[in-house]
Amino acid sequence: MYDLLIKNGKLTNGDIIDVAILNGKIAELGSNINEVATKAIDLQGLHYLSAGWVDLHTHCYPLSPIYNDEPDLIGVTHGVTTVVDAGSVGADDIDDFYRLTQQSATNVYSILNISRIGLLRQDELADMSDIDLDVAKTAITNHSNFVVGIKARMSGSVVKNNGLAPLVRAKEMQAQNNNLPLMVHVGNNPPNLDDIAELLTEGDIITHCYNGKPNRILTPEGELKESMKKAIKRGVILDVGHGGASFSFDVAEQAIKKGIYPDTISSDIYCKNRISGPVRSLSHIMSKFLTIGLPMEQVIECVTTNAANALKITTKGRLEVGKDADITIFNILNEPCTFEDSEQGSRKGSESFLPLACIVSGKLITTQHGEQHNVFNA
Ligand SMILES: [Zn+2]
Repeated sequence: MYDLLIKNGKLTNGDIIDVAILNGKIAELGSNINEVATKAIDLQGLHYLSAGWVDLHTHCYPLSPIYNDEPDLIGVTHGVTTVVDAGSVGADDIDDFYRLTQQSATNVYSILNISRIGLLRQDELADMSDIDLDVAKTAITNHSNFVVGIKARMSGSVVKNNGLAPLVRAKEMQAQNNNLPLMVHVGNNPPNLDDIAELLTEGDIITHCYNGKPNRILTPEGELKESMKKAIKRGVILDVGHGGASFSFDVAEQAIKKGIYPDTISSDIYCKNRISGPVRSLSHIMSKFLTIGLPMEQVIECVTTNAANALKITTKGRLEVGKDADITIFNILNEPCTFEDSEQGSRKGSESFLPLACIVSGKLITTQHGEQHNVFNA
């Protein structure tokens, strides 16, 4: 007997599927599963399901004095089954962060700030002595199932007079820790994007990839910068990391027109840009990509398979037997909506993702929209 059976969910390719869950894992996938389950819900072919959504770039250490939030308020409340905190926490606070996340319904992972102090201050990489490779190694080793990457915020306001030096240290840290994924934030220069990109290797992640600052990925003429062409060819990953200051519709549209697609779509959400915009939720950011022409299937891939692959999280991101039973149930709302970027730009759209529920390790959690639609009372 299964714990949970989801009948007639619609996949993004239109296929209808049943998913059976046992002991927190996907136990069976098929077109007509009839075995008994403790609980069953029927989506009647009306609602979509996908692997659980993963937000690769969030800020959810509740005690960060700068960027903080609660994992569940950015996670399961909006159909997101996994949130990854991108650098709010360094080695000094990782024990505390791990302890706090154990109370969340949402899965939480950490991309450890290479600065041991984390986002205690806006300029956490101004003092090179805060990048301590030994302390970082201990933190990563002690939390090998929690720390899934390392983060270097490479903008002028963060590194001050240190230029590229923190990134050079980050590459050393990566090499010392099983080639852990490295996420690099690009913002205001210096350092220049060209110099940052040159240091990145296969699997490294550039976040804020469609920022509208001078350090954007495009030249003033709208061409992809030469350094970025080479980086992408080497296998560097492009992550959206929308945030309050790092997403431009103009840049995203120009880039996508040239075939420079996001590998992963993430929000850079924290309480302020969640409540006041322009971020609001991961699904809101996903809807912006629908609006500028990305197919739904591709958007979903960015927040499932691609996100899990980027961080080498092998148990998530796919609807496959044996994977964690993390699933998002959603629909598309057809209503006019205006979307805003971080640069006073806006676009009018007609479709939005509407998360109805998610399942985390086999447990069903209905969102507010799901309650209103009254779909899950079976
Ligand atoms: Zn961030």
